[in-house]
Amino acid sequence: MPDYLQQEIKFLTGVGPKRAELLNKELKIYTFEDLLYYFPYKYIDRSKFYQIRDLNPELPHIQLKGKIIGFEQLGGGRKKRLVAYFTDGTGTIELVWFKGLSYIQKSLMLNKEYIVFGKPGFFGGKYNVIHPEIEDSIRNQNVIKAKLQAHYSTTEKLKKNYLPSRAIAKLINNLLLQIKDKINETLPEYLIQKYKLISLQDALFNIHFPQNAEILKKAIYRLKFEELFYIQLNILQKRSIRLNKFNGFVFSRVGDFFNRFYEENLPFELTNAQKRVLKEIRKDVGSGKQMNRLLQGDVGSGKTLVALMSMLIALDNGFQACIMAPTEILANQHFETVKKFLDGLPINVQLLTGSTKTAARKEIHEQLMNGELQILIGTHALIEETVKFKNLGLVVIDEQHRFGVVQRAKLWKKNHQPPHVLVMTATPIPRTLSMTIYGDLDVSVIDELPPGRKPIKTIHLYDSKRLRLFGFMRQQIAQGRQIYIVYPLIKESEKMDYKDLEDGYESISRAFPPPKYAVSIVHGKMKAEEKEVAMNLFIKGKTHIMVATTVIEVGVDIPNASVMVIESAERFGLSQLHQLRGRVGRGADQSYCVLMTGYKLSNEARKRIDIMTKSNDGFEIAEADMKLRGPGDIEGTQQSGLAFDLKIANLGRDGQLIQYVRDIADNILDDDPWLEKNENQVLKNQLKKIAYKKMDFSVIS
Ligand code: ADP
Ligand code: MG
Repeated sequence: MPDYLQQEIKFLTGVGPKRAELLNKELKIYTFEDLLYYFPYKYIDRSKFYQIRDLNPELPHIQLKGKIIGFEQLGGGRKKRLVAYFTDGTGTIELVWFKGLSYIQKSLMLNKEYIVFGKPGFFGGKYNVIHPEIEDSIRNQNVIKAKLQAHYSTTEKLKKNYLPSRAIAKLINNLLLQIKDKINETLPEYLIQKYKLISLQDALFNIHFPQNAEILKKAIYRLKFEELFYIQLNILQKRSIRLNKFNGFVFSRVGDFFNRFYEENLPFELTNAQKRVLKEIRKDVGSGKQMNRLLQGDVGSGKTLVALMSMLIALDNGFQACIMAPTEILANQHFETVKKFLDGLPINVQLLTGSTKTAARKEIHEQLMNGELQILIGTHALIEETVKFKNLGLVVIDEQHRFGVVQRAKLWKKNHQPPHVLVMTATPIPRTLSMTIYGDLDVSVIDELPPGRKPIKTIHLYDSKRLRLFGFMRQQIAQGRQIYIVYPLIKESEKMDYKDLEDGYESISRAFPPPKYAVSIVHGKMKAEEKEVAMNLFIKGKTHIMVATTVIEVGVDIPNASVMVIESAERFGLSQLHQLRGRVGRGADQSYCVLMTGYKLSNEARKRIDIMTKSNDGFEIAEADMKLRGPGDIEGTQQSGLAFDLKIANLGRDGQLIQYVRDIADNILDDDPWLEKNENQVLKNQLKKIAYKKMDFSVIS
């Protein structure tokens, strides 16, 4: 039977090569199975019949039962139309067709009972339905009856080629009748029993042809359950395979480096969240298994320090460690920070980036090989072939989504045994989502900011209040502060966006003229060196204002910059707004984020602005973002390798169910890690099928 469903769609009755090609191209339906799992996006209640005398023009859809009592072809040319006069005994309406007139007239009979469905119109004192759906009231035996009518999304092209929602329903109808009673159950019986699910057969019939609203709910639940369950089972099994295959270096002790740092150098108390996360990391690196951990924490939550202390544990156990950052500026910054933190301790820390001179580079290579170099900080330069470590024990990757999977794998290969990996990200992702996207990584969260931070004040201003903004900026600069002004840059509107940026830069330069003021600009069209120069001027405090596109988004730490102005803020997503805002609020001064928008705001944009002005909490914002936009657009997720082609579940809305099925999958694997038990054969086979479809959700690790 499974093979049956793998047949090409062109072999389905009613399809053929031409329609098959359309279904392939427009809806990515290639096989019987694809069609079967092409689920409706909405349902319309077809259990209610209206009476013609009760109609009113406001009704969205009506269903009538009655007879045609006469036909008439009216008009000429493009206005030519067929009108059928239809009555149910309480009144008469007109059914109107502009296409296929003679075919339709031939196929319909006078005085036979029909059911008519469509959107009513009201014209010249009479009700009409244009291009109604019409069918015999004694329904055809080959039609699956349903109380709710499913609607499928189609495309203009499909509609033009006679494949509207109705036609798709008909194809699915035919398919379901063919495979009736031959649908293999895809979940083990014991799960179906225990979690009170309906059978796959019932679920598939009712998702397309619901017998009633209640069973439709059950069908949706069953299909979501299954979809999410297999994703989690797949991830968790991969994870357990990885843990079994690779031993991890054992960092069994905490020694002098760590202790001296803690006692002599650490300038402040760790936050409770930092302590907790360090404990989690220590447990991992002491376990004998390879650590693969994602460290999430809002901007400014102190991830770098946690990374540093983890590296010191590696050093205490005789290993080397490295940090890889996505840009040279960030690598520099980490280098400076780490050096400052480690001041006075006998630890050899070096920086390796694209700009490292040949002689220095050679020296670094040597010291890495002979083990003298203990902590290496750098960019992609770290993963070049020539960089070889003596014994790399821990890799820290900052701002993970800029690094691809391949690059990470390269780092692994630098050892006979993979080092522990700690991935840091400031993009807060709701837990349920990270369980899926980063399913194979363990997740630690720093959900607490160091004490004494002044929350950033976020203000919304309409573009017309620009003079007020300029006044505020002058005042801040007079107090010695620096200011970011960020413009959106979106691929689709790149040209216009650059123009906005340039216009903005010009007007800022006019409003803030030299010699009193200095303004820098940074954008993606500049050469890397030019960008660095401009950035560095700002970092060193030589310019007051930095006009930029979102290139400054990641990680840059300039404590003196205390104002973030975001232009066309309505065009940014919530996560991105929050990331940008995180660039300020790093010093002791009160920081501000100003969201500039036009007067016209969509409801959604208004909500985003509203949330931003009310909340400073990255996780709260990420949750809200996911609810507003769905997870597909959440920053960083596109690159994660998770194709968001879920058929029915929604990572945003089904968070609870994700956790629920993950626990179920976890328990099953605890009990039967290789799925060898008889009762679990169904699971094993389904996983194989998923692997075959390349739904590889754990690529991130
Ligand atoms: P992140 O990388 O998470 O954005 P950082 O590690 O850059 O954050 O830390 C932000 C700032 O907070 C740094 O200046 C750091 O020294 C400081 N910091 C980190 N932990 C603490 C703490 N427990 N108490 C006070 N300040 C801290
Ligand atoms: Mg950081």
